[in-house]
Amino acid sequence: MRPDLESLPVYVPGKTYPGAIKLASNEVTHPPLPSVMSAITEAAATANRYPDNGAVELTEELAKSLGVTTDEVQAGCGSVILCQNLITATSGPGDEVLFAWRSFETYPLATQVAGASAVQVPLTGDAVHDLEAMAAAITDRTRLIFVCNPNNPTGTVVEAAALRAFLEKVPSEVVVALDEAYFEYARLDEAHAYDGIELHREFDNVVVLRTFSKAYGLAALRIGYAVGHPSVITALGKIHVPFSVGTLSQAAAVASLHAQDELLARTDDVAAERARVTAALRELGYSVPDSQANFVWLALGEDAAPFAAACTEGGVVVRPFAGDGVRVTVTKREEDDAFLAIARDWAQR
Ligand code: PMP
Repeated sequence: MRPDLESLPVYVPGKTYPGAIKLASNEVTHPPLPSVMSAITEAAATANRYPDNGAVELTEELAKSLGVTTDEVQAGCGSVILCQNLITATSGPGDEVLFAWRSFETYPLATQVAGASAVQVPLTGDAVHDLEAMAAAITDRTRLIFVCNPNNPTGTVVEAAALRAFLEKVPSEVVVALDEAYFEYARLDEAHAYDGIELHREFDNVVVLRTFSKAYGLAALRIGYAVGHPSVITALGKIHVPFSVGTLSQAAAVASLHAQDELLARTDDVAAERARVTAALRELGYSVPDSQANFVWLALGEDAAPFAAACTEGGVVVRPFAGDGVRVTVTKREEDDAFLAIARDWAQR
């Protein structure tokens, strides 16, 4: 084994148990739509054959719906793999991968796997990316920058003007991955509204990462995509593990795109619940930044682990980040209320 991997922590997802309400992984509660289920069943009939390695139909559908060309799109086995592949494609020993912290845990892990160095820039006091400090942290060894918007696990978004100013400062040979895993849940005001695909058109070094795991409800099928300059997509295509995006996943993603309006309409309910849950938590005295994702962040510091343990005991599994905070998925009223009842007891203990 490589000695430099010895310090690599094991990824521990939110642990659940039968009967628990799972609010740990930002999933949706809805099972796939009937049309998606039948596409999956139909695809299962060809499970004896390898998948389409180029995910041609899906790539074409995505390109059409996003207004880009097929050589600007790469499907992957979850957008987490696309994060990893972007790191591999850009960075090795001696190179730097820059991102805000706290943010998505894959960034430091995959950077370490690649043997590159992680440069982590603390979020502002409002738990937002500090884009000015990130720009100042760029060196001649920076190869890749992640901007997670909305940010996991805080749910916060950057201001559109700040993002543009940042992109203008990034040298054109440094790739910027705009990780938009949760963008379908965002209801952005004028100061924050932006179009990632538009930014990709304008800035050749911007790659947008999206997923079918969240708003499209296909977390188990592991499918996401990158939209970027053909030179970046070509590199991602070379690194792509052959046949790693399964036939059932491709079929489900295509069927989900066809049902896009119905699926995305559900995000309105989550956005309304998010406002209700945030207000209720603040009323109880919790510090909760404005979230634009399908989760909220409770900045609990040292209380994070005991708070999460109290939730588990109360039948609700949340995601603690020890010493920092707790991330709680927002789903539907009954589930959110079960969590709020525990949060109320904790606040009044
Ligand atoms: N990016 C962010 C910010 C995420 O939170 C996640 C999922 N936790 C992913 C990417 C990866 O999602 P998936 O691999 O399911 O597409």
